Amino acid sequence: MPFSIKNLVSKNNGNGHKKNGQTPLKLVGQKPKYLTRSDQIPQLTAEEKKQLEEVNEKFVFRTNDYYQSLIDWDDPKDPIRRIVMPDVQELDEWGQLDASNEEKYTKVKGLEHKYTSTALLLVNEVCAAYCRFCFRKRLFMNENDEVTKDVSEGLDYIRKHKEISNVLLTGGDPLIMSTSKLQPIIHKLRQLDHVKIIRIGTKIPAFNPFRILNDPSLLEMIETYSLPDKKIYIMAHFNHPRELTPKAIEGLNLLMKAGAIVVNQTPLIRGVNDDHKVLAELFSQLSFIGVPPYYVFLCRPTLGNETYSVPVEQGYQIFEHARTLCSGLGKRARLVMSHETGKVEVVGMTETQIFFKYIRAAVDENGAKFMAFNKNPQALWLDDYAEAEDEFPLDALQPMSGLDNK
Ligand code: SF4
Repeated sequence: MPFSIKNLVSKNNGNGHKKNGQTPLKLVGQKPKYLTRSDQIPQLTAEEKKQLEEVNEKFVFRTNDYYQSLIDWDDPKDPIRRIVMPDVQELDEWGQLDASNEEKYTKVKGLEHKYTSTALLLVNEVCAAYCRFCFRKRLFMNENDEVTKDVSEGLDYIRKHKEISNVLLTGGDPLIMSTSKLQPIIHKLRQLDHVKIIRIGTKIPAFNPFRILNDPSLLEMIETYSLPDKKIYIMAHFNHPRELTPKAIEGLNLLMKAGAIVVNQTPLIRGVNDDHKVLAELFSQLSFIGVPPYYVFLCRPTLGNETYSVPVEQGYQIFEHARTLCSGLGKRARLVMSHETGKVEVVGMTETQIFFKYIRAAVDENGAKFMAFNKNPQALWLDDYAEAEDEFPLDALQPMSGLDNK
């Protein structure tokens, strides 16, 4: 049979994911049912509903019937529940709304340009559910106007900046948009010779795989615009192995068969994946599917997120222990902080010191800089470390060719 996206879309049986003997949901062909209020969550106690509404007033709540079906309500510490259901500790005053100062790198409305080759286009401000630990929760607040539906100014900026070879479509979740709204943006980007990689940052494969399973036009769009020499990357967002349901895996496979390169990135979240066995299972399962684990992020110090944060040094130990349990293909992730000044990798630790290295830097002088700090077990972020004990900047490296080495 010739390759055709229509042939790839499964004739599925109309059932959602079945767990713990619960009745499977009838979801296929239907739109997800969104839930935004406590009275829509029958499993909560009256006290929990009251707390939810209290948190809800500050940080918006949204989930959907598919994702709710993955929660084990018999376990009050269920990790899926923790991803999406509010926690009263979010009301603790800690952190900032824009923890890595994205505003500083916003060049025109809806466009961020921090690293020379990469631009971010914020194409919407909605997700299929909201992660409680979201670092962009400010976008979902009423008074926010950082995102614009008309991205022409952002596209114009990209057109003029030939150094931009990567564009990340983000938000919000670009795949919450209909394919007919997303396609023109991708089409315009593909008309720009200098834009090689188009990334789509999305949690749809985890939050609502039926968005992929039920829309052949999405897969056709990927097939059209993910080219042999200029790929579309799907930056998926699975936090826990239990999100990798059969339907989610089916969705990921459809995206890959349509020609997308799929990778996964996840923050390290207390109560979700701060366990080396859970993290190892996530890495391994992703590698079995053919989705490389890419970045593991330490939680940005975003307002209300202290309860979700894992200290840097503890995070490093969990991450490295997890990697020891994986094959080489499962251990491709890097542990990083998306700091205002750049993407900083945690590369090692001794009894007394911890070592960081810039993978991406907002200013050239920090490019590839290596830094050694005295340890601080309480540190949750780069800024919690005192001045670096030692540094090795890029310009200290001696560029050598093979011949020079002789
Ligand atoms: S999917 Fe991404 S943007 Fe949406 S709530 Fe989760 S972390 Fe935030």
